[in-house]
Amino acid sequence: DRVFSRPGEPGCLVNFRPKYENFIGNQWIPPVKGNYFDNISPVDGKAFCKCANSTSEDVEVAIEYAYRCWQSWKRTSAQDRAKVLYQIAQVIEDNKEKLAVAEVWDNGKPIREALSEDIPDAATHFRYFAAAIATQEGFLSEINENLVAYHFYEPLGVVALIIPWNYPILMASWKLAPAIAAGNCAILKPAEQTPASIMVLMELLVDVIPPGLINILTGYGPQVGKPLALHPKIKKVAFTGETTTGQEIMKYVSQNIIPVTLELGGKSPNIFFEDVASENDEFFEKAVEGCAMFVLNQGEVCTCPSRALVHESIYDKFVEKLISILRNIKQGNPLSMETMVGAQVSSEQLEKIRYYIELGKKEGAERVFGGNGKKVVEGQLQDGYFIEPTIFKGDNKMRIFQEEIFGPVLSITTFRTEEEAIKIANDTSYGLAAGVWTRDNSRGYRVCRQLEAGRVWLNCYNEFPAHSAFGGYKKSGFGRECHKIALEHYQQIKNIIVDY
Ligand code: NAD
Repeated sequence: DRVFSRPGEPGCLVNFRPKYENFIGNQWIPPVKGNYFDNISPVDGKAFCKCANSTSEDVEVAIEYAYRCWQSWKRTSAQDRAKVLYQIAQVIEDNKEKLAVAEVWDNGKPIREALSEDIPDAATHFRYFAAAIATQEGFLSEINENLVAYHFYEPLGVVALIIPWNYPILMASWKLAPAIAAGNCAILKPAEQTPASIMVLMELLVDVIPPGLINILTGYGPQVGKPLALHPKIKKVAFTGETTTGQEIMKYVSQNIIPVTLELGGKSPNIFFEDVASENDEFFEKAVEGCAMFVLNQGEVCTCPSRALVHESIYDKFVEKLISILRNIKQGNPLSMETMVGAQVSSEQLEKIRYYIELGKKEGAERVFGGNGKKVVEGQLQDGYFIEPTIFKGDNKMRIFQEEIFGPVLSITTFRTEEEAIKIANDTSYGLAAGVWTRDNSRGYRVCRQLEAGRVWLNCYNEFPAHSAFGGYKKSGFGRECHKIALEHYQQIKNIIVDY
């Protein structure tokens, strides 16, 4: 277990700077207007550093450095770009503990998750895209006896990457790795709730990356994200965040007619057929644990399985098991290796979750577990943003079934037939992910194919391999990350036709 030492105290593994300027051209450059905001840790509700409150003036500075770097980076061979990505991966791996602790203070997530998933996965993404770019090939088409059409993959230029707060370093890696591998330079804007951990990473990367390849501007969406996305020198926006923000981003990119990828919200259904509970075996355990994943990362996961659809014949047995699992989940100090559920990212997020818990009660949903609002964690963490998990049983038409809560709140409903399950699952404006659990493979396949979601897990949940394309249907966005096809979202194709 990590000693509970606040940033700045002896024993804290990370030496956060008291004040972070922007990271531009491998330097720390103060915001032009000189303003900073307090970065508050969800672990204890106290500020632990300040970060630049950037504006459009800072966007200009970052673009200048990024654009300059791009003049040489775009000419760098794919093999040399791959080398830089491998080095980044190595730095992440060598500093795993430090980065995990930084992530805990910034986001409130449990250290065991950060150490076993977030940070190693970030390194994997850089390695994966290093290999992907090193092996990518253009192609040619033979048109007729004389004409040959060549196709070359070319980078776009300086790209804007705007990310949310739930997986700060991992979300940055999902975008940075394909963007720079493809030959672009990047300006990344982390979420204002979690601006510090990425800065800890950048401090470690100074000697590894050319100046201007990766630039970080901290601050708020409308003040810095918007001018960044609107800037005429930005050649692509990759955005992850809420659907409503995604709608704004689409308006911005229409100004300069640039490509955009949007990874947005979700309200993912997790379907449990009757055969799941036919025996009290490992499969049944695994399935119910798959349902309990609604508490993973405090429910702040875009693919959070927030709607469970359980066959009515197994409902009682299923819920009994689910509750016994939840009772054994340790929640509290995220720096303890035993902790499985940490703190919500911000007081606003905590209030939003409480609002939905009250709404569920008002809508007439049955309270199956929890539902009491804030969880009291004693001592130094008493002001942290902890909340106990909650389960409601209700109807898919209710708002708690339709709106993304982004917290540890599960809405369960029952179904009788396969057709009904598919209908309920698809009755949502989102289409990010879904889960299906059954011992019957052909039913599993059949149902997966009918679900309106970009990612479906059959008999598993929340697996995120780097070589598996991830992205949404419907209002969950478009474009794919995490597979080599993501490279093409950061490239354009030059076609040269030659008459020999
Ligand atoms: P958000 O939309 O509020 O913010 C995301 C980012 O956009 C932040 O950096 C924010 O500062 C910036 N932003 C806000 N307004 C902006 C504007 N007008 N112009 C430019 N930038 C702006 O989202 P959030 O609350 O940080 O994150 C939670 C959301 O992210 C959830 O909806 C979740 O489902 C989604 N998410 C999706 C995926 C996915 O892959 N589909 C992954 C993680 C999170």
